[in-house]
Amino acid sequence: MNSSAQSGSKTSRAIIIGSGFGGLALAIRLQAAGIPTLILEARGKPGGRAYVYEQDGFRFDAGPTVLTAPQVIDDLFSAGGKNREDYIQFEALSPFYRLLWQDGTQFDYAGNEAELEAAIAAFSPDDIEGYRRFRKYSQDVFKEGYEKLAHVPFLDIWSMVRAAPNLVKLESYRSVYSIVARFIKDEKLRQVFSYHTLLVGGNPFSTSAIYALIHALELKWGVHFPRGGTGALVAALVKLFQDLGGELRLNANVDEILTEDATVTGVKLKDGEIISSCYVASNADVVHTYKHLLREHPPAQSAARKLERSDHSMSLFLIYFGVKGKYTDLAHHTILFGPRYKELLTDIFDRGVLADDFSLYLHSPSVTDDSLAPPGHSTHYVLAPVPHMGHHKNKGSVDWNIAGPQLQERILTSLEERCMPDLRKKIVTTRIFSPPNFEQQLNAWQGSAFSLQPTLTQSAWFRVHNRDRNIHGLYFVGAGTHPGAGIPGVVNSARATAGLMQEDWSNE
Ligand SMILES: Cc1cc2nc3c(=O)[nH]c(=O)nc-3n(C[C@H](O)[C@H](O)[C@H](O)COP(=O)(O)OP(=O)(O)OC[C@H]3O[C@@H](n4cnc5c(N)ncnc54)[C@H](O)[C@@H]3O)c2cc1C
Repeated sequence: MNSSAQSGSKTSRAIIIGSGFGGLALAIRLQAAGIPTLILEARGKPGGRAYVYEQDGFRFDAGPTVLTAPQVIDDLFSAGGKNREDYIQFEALSPFYRLLWQDGTQFDYAGNEAELEAAIAAFSPDDIEGYRRFRKYSQDVFKEGYEKLAHVPFLDIWSMVRAAPNLVKLESYRSVYSIVARFIKDEKLRQVFSYHTLLVGGNPFSTSAIYALIHALELKWGVHFPRGGTGALVAALVKLFQDLGGELRLNANVDEILTEDATVTGVKLKDGEIISSCYVASNADVVHTYKHLLREHPPAQSAARKLERSDHSMSLFLIYFGVKGKYTDLAHHTILFGPRYKELLTDIFDRGVLADDFSLYLHSPSVTDDSLAPPGHSTHYVLAPVPHMGHHKNKGSVDWNIAGPQLQERILTSLEERCMPDLRKKIVTTRIFSPPNFEQQLNAWQGSAFSLQPTLTQSAWFRVHNRDRNIHGLYFVGAGTHPGAGIPGVVNSARATAGLMQEDWSNE
């Protein structure tokens, strides 16, 4: 299908709704290819989930903090004829993560194979051979699932059928945890090598084993931190886009995507302004796009209903906090497992229950970068995965105005006991972000933090297509599309969408 539907004069520019990593990456690729591009962002700052809060002299990156596959970012600069190093510096981290259990056990997930093997040998010597086989599996999946397929659009069922033999060979119908458990015996190490799916919104017990590739991806390219924080990376991408001549409008809330005869004609903003274009890509939540922005379009309404019935990722409860002094023993990234693993995940993903216990991810960027807090202070955030708000049985059962402060108290107590002594005496500023905030501030369906879950039946062709089948001139980019959430995922989705838009633009 060629979506350059309006014959006659060539449309003057492409519009992208939303400035998340996916929207920015698409905008850069289009602009670099000579397609004038306008980004319309509802909020007052770009970045989407990678928003930045400035509060009492602290700088808090709101969302993504673990930068993997940095070459996907380098590729954006190359596409624009620039060098990434002229815009932003990346720092390789080691260990990648520190993992802590309630019994006090600690595991440093090192950044190179030798150190990692030494850590496994010290932890569970019987698992060394199994770990090596797991690494080989992960590298094989990486070659097939990432290198060959991550940036390719799946527009028809045949593209899926063609990929199927490889996906079957890789046992992608199994879960990440079951694959890890096949190779590794120690339960804690099974957690170490399976929890990563949570970083892209998936339950390790139901996420396709394709996602075991994350381990190989991390070993190949490392885990990085952009100097100045993720917000500095967003600013660098915005600058690149603007240096290429692109336009970003903030506080531009799109109310409707306008169509005529199933063909995009432009967008209408909340203030009534109409901007014409027959190329509109949505980086906004996929349910929001179909349900609200295309509310006059019956096929879009049926797409919205189907998506509402799909499995969406969990939500998150976040506390951003600034501290007087520094915790010099902390790693940059710490995972604190709670007393339960599988059962807690079942509560979050399947039962939709806000449990009394939790597992946490603690971000402590001042370990690496002094610029994010006032002198003598440090900046942190901690998050707990929690159910999204759409679980039918429990819909509406959590009042976050009450549950939020209670959970905050329990989480800070836990941090104080486990790795940040006297924390509450040292905190000088806090702010929280809970599931209703995801819904209200990001238009995220039921407060889901990562859009559709990365299960096999919601991956590749089964995910929202990069080019819509029914509405000419409508494209998608970001976490709800192939390959899925996470910075590398959405930047790869932008590559797939940009290819389609360029093809359609040049065929006009
Ligand atoms: C707390 C948290 C931590 C994470 N940690 C990591 C990590 O460490 N590493 C990693 O790789 N990934 C991480 N992720 C996942 C990653 O951040 C996301 O998958 C990715 O950033 C999503 O990008 P996106 O392109 O889909 O757009 P989003 O970031 O979802 O942005 C969409 C944009 O669209 C805008 N928008 C919505 N509706 C409209 C409208 N009607 N009009 C105009 N604009 C609109 C929104 O305001 C928003 O700016 C994390 C996510 C969260 C929430």
